[in-house]
Amino acid sequence: MSMRIGLGFDSHAFKEGVPLVIGGLKIDHPQGLAGHSDGDLLLHAITDALLGAVCAGDIGTFFPPTDPKWKGADSTVFLETALEEIALAGYKIVNLDCVLIMHRPKIVPIAAEMRERVADLLGLELNQVSIKGKTPEGLPQDGTAVAHVVVLLESLDNGESGRKLALHADRPTESDIEAAITSIAAQPRDISALGRKVPAFDTDDLT
Ligand SMILES: [Zn+2]
Repeated sequence: MSMRIGLGFDSHAFKEGVPLVIGGLKIDHPQGLAGHSDGDLLLHAITDALLGAVCAGDIGTFFPPTDPKWKGADSTVFLETALEEIALAGYKIVNLDCVLIMHRPKIVPIAAEMRERVADLLGLELNQVSIKGKTPEGLPQDGTAVAHVVVLLESLDNGESGRKLALHADRPTESDIEAAITSIAAQPRDISALGRKVPAFDTDDLT
């Protein structure tokens, strides 16, 4: 069994007049987070952690902020793409640990509900998802929300997924490729919605 680790970071400024969504959870708060998409910094950081764990680039690789298609997008779309990428690479999530840093709203009172939502979106049990709230003591961070995420992946057992593809280091065998193609062909996916393009690791993340 092989394991991989991924690290994600994101930040967004608070803005009047937009809804606040963190971890896919709509939160009653006078301000939301500015961004090209819905500004859900936690889902963006989780997406980056997952993609990073399988060396698949970052959120800007798949969803360039210059593309008007993603304006106001529901960030669960980004997460779904990252989940597909780790499955294609032959991995599944062991657990993730998240830190949200902001003055307001207070995260602790809503952390349990947020964990349930994130676990649901990722198809995980509650004990695989940790979300911690911190206030930015001593940091000049008024009006900004920050998220850090670390994720651990483990390889899928043979036979657990017909979609297993080897990463760059190990070449897939013919039967791996055949099984992956058969599996992908059997599960229709809307590839056009993914907005894929050549990796660009220096893309600004405005999502
Ligand atoms: Zn973002």
